[in-house]
Amino acid sequence: MRKYSIAIDGPSGAGKSTLAKALAARLGFLYVDTGAIYRTVGLYVARTGGDCAVESDVLSRLPEIRITMTYGEDGLQHMILGGEDVTTDIRKNEVSRYASQVSPIPGVRAFLLEMQRSMAREHSVLMDGRDIGTVVLPDADLKIFLTASVEERARRRHKELLEKGQQIDFETVKQEIADRDHADTHRAVAPLKKAEDAVVVDTSALDLDQSLEALYTLVKERLDL
Ligand code: C5P
Repeated sequence: MRKYSIAIDGPSGAGKSTLAKALAARLGFLYVDTGAIYRTVGLYVARTGGDCAVESDVLSRLPEIRITMTYGEDGLQHMILGGEDVTTDIRKNEVSRYASQVSPIPGVRAFLLEMQRSMAREHSVLMDGRDIGTVVLPDADLKIFLTASVEERARRRHKELLEKGQQIDFETVKQEIADRDHADTHRAVAPLKKAEDAVVVDTSALDLDQSLEALYTLVKERLDL
């Protein structure tokens, strides 16, 4: 059977993971959340006493880090770190920072590249990240650049964190999103950038159902499913 690949890139909080997960389920594709892999690397470095902002602390740990991705009966991606399921731990706010600290390091990106590509060789995938359309899957069947205004993304993230019981004020969340955008778009290696052939979908004025419908329509138009 023919395997399809869809790349979804965009800044944090645009609704990528929620939408990609729902869209993948509707299409019967595997959803690959690549941010989760960077988060797991960051979590490992921090847990073993390293500083994610110090390149040598990160690089020296790569040979020993054991990361696997599994898919539960729920169809959702689980991150396994040395045998432990860290799927929930990597969602903590400080781990977002660790992930964006380790992600500009070329050695980290090279280390994770093959892991991501092999998923697309074996399955029809919907992969979300920052450089999927530009670096990881340059030949994807469809590339989507999903975005929304900083204000709207901060509002969504803030709500999500409060629901998880993390007390944090809105301005702090907004500043963190703006800082992460800046770091992700200005790094030298694999910056967040729209692939030339990507379709831009702006969800600022759309709710989740409307966004999902827009994406599904796009897939139906572009892919011969
Ligand atoms: O998507 P998520 O917020 O989980 O990603 C966490 C961090 O991992 C991002 O801020 C970014 O620095 C990094 N990342 C990346 N390349 C990807 C996915 C995530 O650099 N493909």
